[in-house]
Amino acid sequence: MATIREPAREIPVVHDVDVVVCGGGPGGFPAAIAAARHGARTVLIERYGFMGGLATAGLVAPILAHTASEAHTPIVEGILREVTERMHALGCAPSWEEATQEWGIRFDAEALKVVIDEMCQEAGVTLLLHTLIVDVARKGDAIDAVIVESKSGRQAVRGKVFIDATGDADVAHRAGARTTFGRAYDNCPEAMGSFFHLAGFAEVDAAREEELRQQVEREMEDSRFQFYNPGFLSKRCAYHGDHAAANMTRFGGDPTDVTTLTEAELSVRRNVWELTRYLRATVPEFAEAYVQQTSPQVGPRESRQIVGPYALTGEDIRAGRKFADGIARGSWWIDIHCPRGHAYPVHLCTADCPMGADCDYWVAEHERMPASRQDLMPPKGDWYDIPYRALLSVSVPNLLSSGRCISATHEGMAGARVMGTCIAIGQAAGTAAALAVQEAVSPAEVDVQRLRALLRQDGQLI
Ligand SMILES: Cc1cc2nc3c(=O)[nH]c(=O)nc-3n(C[C@H](O)[C@H](O)[C@H](O)COP(=O)(O)OP(=O)(O)OC[C@H]3O[C@@H](n4cnc5c(N)ncnc54)[C@H](O)[C@@H]3O)c2cc1C
Repeated sequence: MATIREPAREIPVVHDVDVVVCGGGPGGFPAAIAAARHGARTVLIERYGFMGGLATAGLVAPILAHTASEAHTPIVEGILREVTERMHALGCAPSWEEATQEWGIRFDAEALKVVIDEMCQEAGVTLLLHTLIVDVARKGDAIDAVIVESKSGRQAVRGKVFIDATGDADVAHRAGARTTFGRAYDNCPEAMGSFFHLAGFAEVDAAREEELRQQVEREMEDSRFQFYNPGFLSKRCAYHGDHAAANMTRFGGDPTDVTTLTEAELSVRRNVWELTRYLRATVPEFAEAYVQQTSPQVGPRESRQIVGPYALTGEDIRAGRKFADGIARGSWWIDIHCPRGHAYPVHLCTADCPMGADCDYWVAEHERMPASRQDLMPPKGDWYDIPYRALLSVSVPNLLSSGRCISATHEGMAGARVMGTCIAIGQAAGTAAALAVQEAVSPAEVDVQRLRALLRQDGQLI
């Protein structure tokens, strides 16, 4: 490939603060709020004009793992509960008590955007929206500053502690920190996917809904559509009743490769419109249906992750393991969407996958793969801890990870990646960063029992 040489240049340091939170998704915004509430001068850098990450830019809903496995006992509160209560006050989410009785927390992404704006502003977080982190400047092993690009040009933001909540561990990668990517066998990450909102159709009762679901499933059997499930009328992800929120699309590949990302966007959008055109033409109740919105971005379920002193494993999930340095709780199961991106009838990567011997991964691994869904779950009514060590970097002393960048195996991340867990991890990462700054120590030297006590004081369940 041809190359060009970019000349070196002086760039302005536009902020010099205590904590720099990189990315404003479920792993990022709670980190910034927590760090600022604990007195750290905090900047949050986000590439879009709004925060929320996949909860807003991916239309992903509901927020999962707020309660214990297959139970209604809350396991995450703190900032997650505050966010839910604020969205409820706007008429855009259930009350906390109602939400704990449901499978996940349904919400309106527009309400989430403004709630995060307000909570960050009230906490005193300096926001840099429309700003992409493109590089880092190092001082020895540590990060001195992140380099950003925006309409204002190329600038630097200097800090004492950096929290990588970019979902893709962009900061760690640019800093040359050790990272992992996908499963050990072939480095394939879980498949990407997207949500879309369908509206303008006539009300259908439960019996008709089931009939239509089966009709679409038959078309999927005939390979008419590339979805992994036929749930186009799903309302359990939507808060308002004027639309269905569907999570059906799938695309396998590397979410850090821009050509793959481009193909993914074109593919999932095409899939959504194939279905919409089909429904309009064949189902009378859908004659005037329309796509209210597709998610602004296709969503990666798994990407680069930072290597820490401990990696959360599938066994930790299955055993409901607790750790002396537990700083957040998770309850989601080992939910691996086919990393090769195969669609219906393939869904999860388990020993009973219909691909069987047609998949070289299955051939190599099926004796070690979980046989049934029950083998993928934490014990009923229980949860697992996320250890603080999974948020540290073995390579960069002033770097913490949050959200889906934490240290975990492919199986461990398949449970820890859901938004309730990411928000709890974020609160812990921000609190830890503020403590590190207060005590003038590295994140690895933070007194974990003090961190746990602070998190409890701030309403977190650990
Ligand atoms: C199809 C799909 C369905 C899912 N379903 C559910 C579900 O039903 N319930 C659930 O709880 N979870 C679900 N998840 C998982 C969940 O959405 C994610 O794992 C979670 O959002 C991860 O949070 P995060 O903050 O780590 O990353 P993200 O949500 O990806 O947020 C990262 C943020 O960083 C920003 N960013 C990235 N790079 C840069 C950069 N270089 N510079 C500046 N900003 C940057 C991004 O714009 C984004 O705001 C689903 C995911 C997918 C893809």
